[in-house]
Amino acid sequence: MPTPLEVLREATRGSQYENQLWLVGGVVRDELLFGTSPKDYDLTLEGDALACAQFLFERGVSSISPVVYPRFGTAMLQVLGEPVELASARAESYAEDSRKPDTRPATLFEDARRRDFTVNALMRNLHTGELFDPLETGLDDLKAEVLRTPLDPDTTFFDDPLRMLRAVRFKHKLHFSFVEGIEPSIRRNAMRLKVISPERITEELMKMLALPNADEALRDLQELGLTAEFMPEMDAMVGVNQGDWHHLDVFGHTLAVVKSCPPDRPDLKLAALFHDIGKPPTRFVDDQGRIRFFGHEAVGASIAGRVLQRLHFANRDIDFVQLLVKNHMRIGSAEKWSATAIRRLIRDMGGRIDDLLLLCEADQNGQKATAPKLDFRNIREQVDSVRQVTPKEALESPLSGNQIMEVLNIETGPEVGNAKTYLTELVLEGELAPDDEDGARKRLEAWRKSTKP
Ligand code: ATP
Ligand code: MG
Repeated sequence: MPTPLEVLREATRGSQYENQLWLVGGVVRDELLFGTSPKDYDLTLEGDALACAQFLFERGVSSISPVVYPRFGTAMLQVLGEPVELASARAESYAEDSRKPDTRPATLFEDARRRDFTVNALMRNLHTGELFDPLETGLDDLKAEVLRTPLDPDTTFFDDPLRMLRAVRFKHKLHFSFVEGIEPSIRRNAMRLKVISPERITEELMKMLALPNADEALRDLQELGLTAEFMPEMDAMVGVNQGDWHHLDVFGHTLAVVKSCPPDRPDLKLAALFHDIGKPPTRFVDDQGRIRFFGHEAVGASIAGRVLQRLHFANRDIDFVQLLVKNHMRIGSAEKWSATAIRRLIRDMGGRIDDLLLLCEADQNGQKATAPKLDFRNIREQVDSVRQVTPKEALESPLSGNQIMEVLNIETGPEVGNAKTYLTELVLEGELAPDDEDGARKRLEAWRKSTKP
């Protein structure tokens, strides 16, 4: 089975494109660093990438016809199921109020100068395998494990401010450091993030949360003044000290919780990032001098919703975060739980109770070692035993709205809802089996007599 690169190499051999195509960016970088490369291939050439893509398509190597962006001189193909991006080497110039550059055809050298970091501007010839370091410092920087911008950092970051988020991401993904000058430049240019669309910011944020060391990336985002630009609600947690169980301020604790989440669960880390976002506005000191955050979970869920909407997250992701944030304090009393309480939580979590338990366990790990600890193994066993008897789909009223209207001989109205709630509660309390329709009818008739004067 050939690789996509072999297919591309063969399809262009003997053509005008032989020796003209250069792999560039992550694929070259990661191959040098790790001996493996990601599966999205970026290629550049001095010339017309759109024509080259059309040529390749006509040779039958792509399963889709080229998706072209003439403005940027780029075209996407799909080779053996993997995305391949072809780009005409280009130079870019930026207007102040936007990040949409004007582009013009250029040399490989100029193309390298408009990239974000020198280690991302290394090129490898598709046919000869020659490694080309147009900026001349790329290979040394790779060996020294540093991120350096091709141009003065103020220019690189001003031109496309998203590069500041990419800087933080690559630093923690590759375990590199910044060369001198990068940090102060990011601080100076952070406010430029306002020209970046929420979607692009969100994409970077989620890529950072997917890193095993996401907490370190988040700390950098905050310290460099980047969260202040797109998520100032995070900064509000900095320096907010907490009660006896905590050795960290709310932000430090939040990062510790993110760190304790399963590494491959960016969605859970997002919820962790927001779980205590309601603490700063609810903090107060009670008459015994204890620090309290009453209701922070409900306030937090609403702040999280607002922030995530502003960042154009998908509704289902917002719902997930809000559900976890809103319910993250309910596990605190778990050891005194009745089966009813567990059934209620299973119902309220709509299939996400395992995620809630993961978050709460991470939350506990983010507290002082001497804080009282819940036994999560025991809690999971309790939840499992309830779940085995009554799956969450069964935690509903045995009768539908229509059936209730029939039994009670009433029209649509609030009473139907009340009756349904009453039946659901009986199920949750274990007094009524979820499939016991006859029992439900009897209880309903008795309920009507007791509520009617
Ligand atoms: P990964 O795919 O692992 O995130 P990558 O380096 O391949 O890393 P991509 O986003 O796939 O990153 O971009 C490919 C290349 O395109 C980069 O290596 C870089 O040279 C260039 N690039 C991408 N985005 C930018 C940007 N905003 N500014 C400058 N150059 C960029
Ligand atoms: Mg890539």
